[in-house]
Amino acid sequence: MRRFFFDPSTRSGDRVQLSEEESRHISKVLRLKVGDSIELLDGLGGMYQAVIAAVGRQVEVHLEGLVAREAGVGKPLWVWQGILKGEKMDTVVQKCTELGVTGLIPFQSSRCQGKLDASRVRKKHERWQRIGLAACKQCLRLQTINIDMVATYAEALGKRSDDDTILRLLFWEEEKTTHLRDIGDINQADSIALMLGPEGGFSTEEVGQARLLGWRTVSLGERILRAETATISAVSIVQFLAGNV
Ligand code: SAH
Repeated sequence: MRRFFFDPSTRSGDRVQLSEEESRHISKVLRLKVGDSIELLDGLGGMYQAVIAAVGRQVEVHLEGLVAREAGVGKPLWVWQGILKGEKMDTVVQKCTELGVTGLIPFQSSRCQGKLDASRVRKKHERWQRIGLAACKQCLRLQTINIDMVATYAEALGKRSDDDTILRLLFWEEEKTTHLRDIGDINQADSIALMLGPEGGFSTEEVGQARLLGWRTVSLGERILRAETATISAVSIVQFLAGNV
């Protein structure tokens, strides 16, 4: 069955208008017709059986009934990610979605390669959201991944900083003593935040600033992993330790 996302705020009774992007996919790519059945996801965990009612720039759909509701997906896990170049960031968005990350907070720090201007940032954000939605459909994740706009490092550190119930782990290539196994309380934590650097890593000052806000530095082992490998590994291990798989 073909699956599409809709914005629940556009719902009026059992009628829903799909975004232009989802509509284009339905009418131009898949050439679906009025009367065809599809599945609609509201991004909040609800999946509906639906029938196409009108095809156009914005496809109209008639909701027939809720077929599934995804309960909470374990403890919330957020990933603060230094922006990576080109497709590596796409990979991180896709894999974090599949691995059940709640939300991604992309940031630009001192060692990010190449700075993005405002219009590039907007385009990248749209692209990551598209990749996130496609990954949700593919892996049958009913609650969308939340992807923030790109922030500066200082702004990113400020996010959720007043919530002291979050276990904050900063994966630092220069941390030699504390390993993940030394963080004993991962499955006791209410929610977890992971921070991973860009290809150039973190500066000592950046690590110092994060520590002041309660981030603990952690090693992923003696080998320096490529940034995208580090994120995928850190998320996988922490999801397991947190009891989220
Ligand atoms: N350019 C840096 C490496 C950066 S790797 C250097 O040569 O030292 C990119 C990011 O992946 C790092 O900032 C960190 O968040 C993560 N990472 C890679 N290997 C790691 C390790 N062994 N332990 C902890 N984090 C690691």
